[in-house]
Amino acid sequence: MFCPNCGSSVDENAEICLHCGVNVLKFNNQVNVAKNDNPNIWVNVLSLCCFPLLGIILYFIWKDTQPKAAKSALIFALCGLALSVIMMIIAFVIGVVAEMMNDSYYY
Ligand SMILES: [Zn+2]
Repeated sequence: MFCPNCGSSVDENAEICLHCGVNVLKFNNQVNVAKNDNPNIWVNVLSLCCFPLLGIILYFIWKDTQPKAAKSALIFALCGLALSVIMMIIAFVIGVVAEMMNDSYYY
């Protein structure tokens, strides 16, 4: 398993993490918010540009442990979704306009 405090691998039966000295058993019993609960810029960028689903999935994974990061991932994911819908509409309009221009070219 991994130390909930510093993330190093810890012996399954160990009580205390050798790396940071945290009591792993106690730590695991506490339902606490992760210390590094910061919006993850890479996740946000990825959600915005390529994979809106990623942000939504991460939101559900993170919402209990990293509420801030989860919320920002969700916001970026929704922006990414909105952007891709807008891009699709623009591409569709351009396609229709191009077709109309092609038609009028022949007449
Ligand atoms: Zn540790």
